[in-house]
Amino acid sequence: MDKELLLQLKEVLEKERSLVEQELSSFAKKDTKLPGDWDTQHPRVPEGNEEEAADEVEEYESNISVEQELELKLKEVTSALDRIAKGTYGTCEKCGEPIQKERLLAIPSARTCERCMSIIS
Ligand SMILES: [Zn+2]
Repeated sequence: MDKELLLQLKEVLEKERSLVEQELSSFAKKDTKLPGDWDTQHPRVPEGNEEEAADEVEEYESNISVEQELELKLKEVTSALDRIAKGTYGTCEKCGEPIQKERLLAIPSARTCERCMSIIS
């Protein structure tokens, strides 16, 4: 694989990883026991204020779904960076063929080539 392209994609992935981590850390805490896992902070439920408590719970619930989405993204990005470190990046996991450059530029964390992707989905 083209070294310059690889470096370029690595940079994009690293940037994405820090963005996702930044977003996660605004409402969640990194789980120190489980790498890559984040925990949304529990709602502070003010006593005697049911309306506010309901708002807090609602916000907590929506944060949890955002958290799951971001965690998934973080996993994809981290595993792509792992593959770069191992030298297996850019190879389709299904057929072992190189993934098209255009596809990697569009989705740097892609694991499969365009052909295999269309078979899966
Ligand atoms: Zn493939």
